[in-house]
Amino acid sequence: MKKMASFLPLDIDFSIDPLDFTPKGEIITRKLSSMKDAFVDQDAADKMLANGQDPLIVKVFMAEIPAEEGFLMVNINAVYPGKVGNEYFMTKGHIHDDPEHAPEVYITLQGNGKLILQNKNGDFHVSEMRPNKINYIPAPWAHRCVNVGDDPLIYIGVFPSDTERDYSFDSRTFKQIVIEKAGKVAFADNPLQNK
Ligand code: MN
Repeated sequence: MKKMASFLPLDIDFSIDPLDFTPKGEIITRKLSSMKDAFVDQDAADKMLANGQDPLIVKVFMAEIPAEEGFLMVNINAVYPGKVGNEYFMTKGHIHDDPEHAPEVYITLQGNGKLILQNKNGDFHVSEMRPNKINYIPAPWAHRCVNVGDDPLIYIGVFPSDTERDYSFDSRTFKQIVIEKAGKVAFADNPLQNK
């Protein structure tokens, strides 16, 4: 309890455009080159990279909060607009390593997204991400955020601060992918599943 007592009230300033968060802790950036395997159309990804395109897909500012039991982490996340082939830019997707005690809340501030959820029993669920929506992700559900709009998808996440993110629940596990088909957002069976 001594450590908790030593942590003082924390106020964070953030902005959406430009994306910023102060005081800053860890900053995570993912360009196409660092998450190429997440996308189904590897030829399209290779072509973009060969043409010198390595777009920024995800940026996350984490707060400076101890990664210990009893704390809540808060972060601000951006998923930028774009596609690899016909598949929208998205997060890699992960499940929390403590499936009993590590839920997460997303609060969307800007944009239009699909929150893809799947548990270890294979149950699949899609939630909408947009301003004035709060998404509650129960602990045992893997989650991936897909930007299906034209603006950056910006959302705040809150979760137990000692949570480890397990990325082994990945593009070979999610049942469906989100693609553009005839100019519209569509879902398709994931051809990588169980490959
Ligand atoms: Mn999470």
